[in-house]
Amino acid sequence: MSVDSGLYINTQTTSVPDARGYYGDFGGRFVPETLIPALEELAAAYRDAMADPAFQAELEHLQRTFTGRPTPVTFARRMTEALGGAQIYIKREDLAHTGAHKINNALGQALLAKRMGKFRVVAETGAGQHGVASATACAMLGLDCHVYMGTVDMARQKPNVFRMKLMGAEVIPVESGTQTLKDAVNDAIRDWVTNVRDTFYCLGSALGPHPYPMMVRDFQSVIGTEARAQMLELTGRLPNVAIACVGGGSNAIGLFHAFREDESVDLIGVEAGGHGVLSGEHAARFGDPTMGRPGVLHGAKTFVLQNSDGQIMNTHSISAGLDYAAIGPEHAFLRQAERAYYTSATDEEAMAALQMLSTSEGIIPALESAHAVAEVIKRAPTMPKDSIILINLSGRGDKDLDTIMRTIGDA
Ligand SMILES: *Cc1c(COP(=O)(O)O)cnc(C)c1O
Repeated sequence: MSVDSGLYINTQTTSVPDARGYYGDFGGRFVPETLIPALEELAAAYRDAMADPAFQAELEHLQRTFTGRPTPVTFARRMTEALGGAQIYIKREDLAHTGAHKINNALGQALLAKRMGKFRVVAETGAGQHGVASATACAMLGLDCHVYMGTVDMARQKPNVFRMKLMGAEVIPVESGTQTLKDAVNDAIRDWVTNVRDTFYCLGSALGPHPYPMMVRDFQSVIGTEARAQMLELTGRLPNVAIACVGGGSNAIGLFHAFREDESVDLIGVEAGGHGVLSGEHAARFGDPTMGRPGVLHGAKTFVLQNSDGQIMNTHSISAGLDYAAIGPEHAFLRQAERAYYTSATDEEAMAALQMLSTSEGIIPALESAHAVAEVIKRAPTMPKDSIILINLSGRGDKDLDTIMRTIGDA
């Protein structure tokens, strides 16, 4: 929604990625030879769509009339008073259709699939959030949706499996490996390689081989573009700090992108600290100094949690959406360039933050988003009262009620 250009998507030129899909040392295309033509075709179609005002206008129309954009920014008055420091503002992606930011990307990719004449869409899902977003976008656009999901995840996330089926998607059980997200991604990629002529792979975060991390960033950049304008309108200035949780990194990069050139704005990503970054049970790719190292997972070079032999570690987080062994390559680049900083919140801190936001603001955040709130609880009291923090609230907590009840008992 870059107002000057009339283009909906923030296509402001940044130095990354380069033509080969690298963000400094990270990113690229680490895929079998057979996939390269498909990635080239996708990159060309994406470039073409971005340059087409009709595509941008259709996406803008759908985001407005279907997703419910722009999502508002809310001043968290009571939380600000309780913490006694920085003023806290919340970008409300929890109010987007389907309850989280994932629809921004799924809708963009589904529209691109249709434009490319590929009416069969495959997607992978862990907790089911990206599967639901993909099924939603495909139902609305009349595309045929197939979602790969580990059987362990299917058992854990029955309501999302049902939602996808209700919207006409096929959910394909994945029995291999640990029967979770990592294995679902493998099978989705395999399907894509096999059926590439008529099939589009709708990837759920700012991950994977080029052009996916860039494309997902661009589709999510509406978050930051809106939020930046909204903060200027509400407060007359830019926030001092912008904070988001980081799973694969799509909501965070979507927030950060618009503030990239605003040097006065600190960009903070919050990873899943699980039981603690030294416990071995977490998803802190940057936070764990021994297990988190550069490596390759699912097509990109980035920080990956791995043992000394390079085997991918099993991760843990109370929030399924942050529970992944790799982080998007652009975050590895922003961290190395010291343009963004990364920290973590434990399961326990996230749960406490969820409770605080619920009671003080009447907003029940997703457990993922609660990690960003936890960082605000630590940081706001140390900041002056005239400073401003912007949180991206990536999603709502309805999907997490079972986990919350099991963890804290009777509220
Ligand atoms: C999936 C999800 C995330 C994590 O994904 P990113 O790509 O890191 O944004 C965060 N919050 C919610 C609500 C999610 O559903």
